[in-house]
Amino acid sequence: MLDMNYQAILDHIYTDIQPQIGVGKVASYIPELAKVSPAHFGMAIVDLHGNVYAVGDANTVFSIQSISKLFALTLAFHLQGDAIWLRVGREPSGNPFNSLVQLEREAGKPRNPFINAGALVVTDMLCTRFTHAENALLQFIRKISHNPDIGFDEAVAKSERNTSDRNSAMAHFMKSFGNLHNPVEAVLDAYCKHCAITMTATDLARAVTFLANGGALPWNGDAVLDKSSAKRLSALMLTCGTYDAAGDFAFRVGLPAKSGVGGGIVAVMPGECGICVWSPALEETGNSHAGSLALEMLTNLTGRSIF
Ligand code: GLN
Repeated sequence: MLDMNYQAILDHIYTDIQPQIGVGKVASYIPELAKVSPAHFGMAIVDLHGNVYAVGDANTVFSIQSISKLFALTLAFHLQGDAIWLRVGREPSGNPFNSLVQLEREAGKPRNPFINAGALVVTDMLCTRFTHAENALLQFIRKISHNPDIGFDEAVAKSERNTSDRNSAMAHFMKSFGNLHNPVEAVLDAYCKHCAITMTATDLARAVTFLANGGALPWNGDAVLDKSSAKRLSALMLTCGTYDAAGDFAFRVGLPAKSGVGGGIVAVMPGECGICVWSPALEETGNSHAGSLALEMLTNLTGRSIF
């Protein structure tokens, strides 16, 4: 691949994106998240040689929210392999991330691991495997982002836990079908902690470089996943990673990605780099408005996507 001047491209995006920053709404159904200013924008690219390119608030920590679903799935997939697909599907849901409607018809098996129901099942798998699933995931994230200082935002975790009626309903419902093995309260505790992990855009861009590198950490070659599993995970990101906007996102951006209601979106350019953009004001679908546009600009300007 020809070398790209990623810094110049990010600078260009940062200038052009300014009028879009703050368009949309900061998530408020988790009260603590509503305190975040919509005026933030940061973007980072980490290539497979470890070079970092960044603009704006790329080194400010934010709540990773549903991006944690990608890391929880990676860890569960690493530990259990294809057995996980007996309990969670691999199809886009076409419904909002916190919807319950499909669960009854589909006997408590969530459509995919990136909607809340699916992530609760994945968290349940981690709860079976570890005494403290939240700490196991944190350690794993620290390892793949090469940053031992990553931690939880306790206030966000508490805020979500106190308002988790909907996730609680989902968890109980799945338990009634036998698809949750641990106590609902324990799974919700771990899930809310996972969502409340805080990272910077730079941390997150680095944390997905293994997916751009065939499953191996670029700095030491350690395999997080084998090549085929990394491909499959990236495929799931493309089809299910941005909730029920995944089709439009693939159309506009053309990269595997995973978003969170904290306003972060991670994306993977296979063979090249990990990317993360953060801007807290969201579109109706729960994806960052400026973030989605910035990723679209990136693939337009570089002419690179997976297609
Ligand atoms: N913690 C959030 C929830 O469970 C995560 C949702 C998201 O980022 N889409 O509702």
